[in-house]
Amino acid sequence: MKKNILLIHTGGTISMSEDTSGAVKPGEKNPLTQGTELLSSLANLHVEEPFNLPSPHITQKEMMKLKLLLEEYDQQGNIDGAVITHGTDTLEETAYFLDLTCQASFPVVVTGAMRSSNEIGSDGLYNLISSIRVASSEDARGQGVLVVLNDEIHTALNVTKTHTSNISTFQSPQYGPIGIVTKRGVLFHHTPTKHETYPVQVIDKKVHLLKAHAGMDSSLLKAMLSMEVDGIVIEALGQGNLPPSALEGVTEFIKNNIPVVIVSRSYAGIVQDIYGYEGGGKHLKELGVIFSNGLNGQKARIKLLVALANTNRMDELEEMFMF
Ligand code: ASP
Repeated sequence: MKKNILLIHTGGTISMSEDTSGAVKPGEKNPLTQGTELLSSLANLHVEEPFNLPSPHITQKEMMKLKLLLEEYDQQGNIDGAVITHGTDTLEETAYFLDLTCQASFPVVVTGAMRSSNEIGSDGLYNLISSIRVASSEDARGQGVLVVLNDEIHTALNVTKTHTSNISTFQSPQYGPIGIVTKRGVLFHHTPTKHETYPVQVIDKKVHLLKAHAGMDSSLLKAMLSMEVDGIVIEALGQGNLPPSALEGVTEFIKNNIPVVIVSRSYAGIVQDIYGYEGGGKHLKELGVIFSNGLNGQKARIKLLVALANTNRMDELEEMFMF
């Protein structure tokens, strides 16, 4: 029997086309809402288009809108799964936000495309079909928000965009996909061991993301302190170390009771308090920095936004980031 699938279009390359000058942009009409017969043969579709934005235009406001829309349909009780089409640039952030906050009980799949609708080798419709099949699968239940592109099923927690233009851009470094989509079916070969959700009413905190580098000093950190900021994520070096010249800024944040979350600018592995030199992980831990458990910078920022919507106690924030 065909499943009831909520299909939410939000924009991105998957909803764009290329013009004669070679510019890829949104047109008058979303190509995904035309010619949907093929899709209707896969599922009973309930189509929503709350906004049509390139994903660099997406903010926490749109992410929250999607969460509420999914939960509204969940309460109505007749939806078996949801697919969200989204620009790929910030897809992982929206997917992870929903993974952390959305209380809907059906599977949620986020997808996109690297080639727009009228380009040769366009992957949009293909990814959409795969995603509808995954969202319709009973095995997709309870796996958290999933990201499906290029025949692979990834968790929102681990997936990241790794290539600017290649269609196999979405990868889960260190962990790999948890399933594949084939012509015959949808096959899950791994199950995530953990999934956390937090109740969230409003997301209104300001959290910035900064990347560490050789010779980084405290000037940007100090400039941020003079603005209204509720938290900061630093993509630190290696296992979680910073140049000594950045420590003055970090210390100022902590003195002001503003959380400083450390992730690594290395794309695999986790940060730990290993090094005992000035600015090394041990020193940062003593200063009161929070170590994150393997998230990348953009996702740690989303998590800190969600965490700060629940508490501003350092010990509770620290515990959330140990998960
Ligand atoms: N720049 C586009 C966006 O994120 C890229 C894409 O969708 O693939 O909206």
